Amino acid sequence: MSADDPSSLRTELASLAELVRENEPLARHSTFAIGGPADFYVEPKTLPELKKIVAWSNRHGLPLFPIGQGSNLLIGDKGVRGVVVRLRGEFEEISFDGERVSAGAGAPLPSLAKACAQNGLAGAEPLAGIPGTVGGALMTNAGTPEGDIGSLVDEVEILENSGKPAVLAKKDIVFSYRRSDLPGRLVLRARLKLRRGDKNDIMAAIQNQLNRRAKTQPLGSYNVGSIFKNPPGDFAARLVDAAGLKGLRVGGAAVSDKHANFIVNAGQATAEDVHRLIEKIRRTVQEKFGVLLETEIWFAGERSTF
Ligand SMILES: Cc1cc2nc3c(=O)[nH]c(=O)nc-3n(C[C@H](O)[C@H](O)[C@H](O)COP(=O)(O)OP(=O)(O)OC[C@H]3O[C@@H](n4cnc5c(N)ncnc54)[C@H](O)[C@@H]3O)c2cc1C
Repeated sequence: MSADDPSSLRTELASLAELVRENEPLARHSTFAIGGPADFYVEPKTLPELKKIVAWSNRHGLPLFPIGQGSNLLIGDKGVRGVVVRLRGEFEEISFDGERVSAGAGAPLPSLAKACAQNGLAGAEPLAGIPGTVGGALMTNAGTPEGDIGSLVDEVEILENSGKPAVLAKKDIVFSYRRSDLPGRLVLRARLKLRRGDKNDIMAAIQNQLNRRAKTQPLGSYNVGSIFKNPPGDFAARLVDAAGLKGLRVGGAAVSDKHANFIVNAGQATAEDVHRLIEKIRRTVQEKFGVLLETEIWFAGERSTF
């Protein structure tokens, strides 16, 4: 730890003792089921709890790393130093005011899409099959060709390092293909604007999305979705498949036979296995097609060997 002799978060913050876990294996908190321990792992349920954690980590110079479902993250084998925070409780709440929706950063996207459908609000259907949280989705502007979260955003509430909440208007946030300029901010909630629609039509659109995913994606395995962004005018999956890489394996990590842009943890894969496999894929695709694939997934913690 980089802290100046930090006493344990648990001891110092007696009121949060129940929430804090030390040396928590992060493999438990990623859909890849890969990742070493966090020094501290906390699930605050209220803003006052979160503020205490932020103040504590600031006081000890410890980095704070927010995590959602870990569905877009490759977490290093040595884990993450500092305090990993997963927003729960009030941060998972979703509420409606006409066509406006307030969604906590910890709320799962499938719950958000379903709640919108039940309220006869259209626009969030593309998020229904994405197994992340609102907070994680805002970082990468998660979505599908049918739409992304950024296009629904009205404003985003963040917690500044000073411990003060602040509101960013849509005009102050840049969203583009699988990218936003929010990384580095701690997101508390998003206010989205949807449009009225027919409940049955919205439900049917969601069901179509889910059926399509079940047919094309290896949903029963540990994975983090698409590994690479689609290069302009092409598809990463097509390139990886055309390079003959489906099924390619490094240690416990393998290119999915079902979807070439997915890597699955086929059993006991390490982060290092996945890094090496990603490098092999990028090298091969570049040699064969002259396209350098850019990763869509994000990385947390150090790499173990190189
Ligand atoms: C089967 C499968 C299918 C997928 N399909 C899609 C798809 O169609 N489209 C798509 O875009 N993605 C897809 N994904 C990827 C992933 O689900 C999305 O990127 C999702 O939005 C990530 O959310 P998360 O909460 O899991 O974020 P995490 O993976 O936990 O975190 C991602 C980043 O966001 C940061 N973060 C998380 N919460 C906060 C917060 N509150 N404040 C600040 N930073 C925060 C983290 O620090 C990290 O840097 C898929 C993944 C899987 C496993």
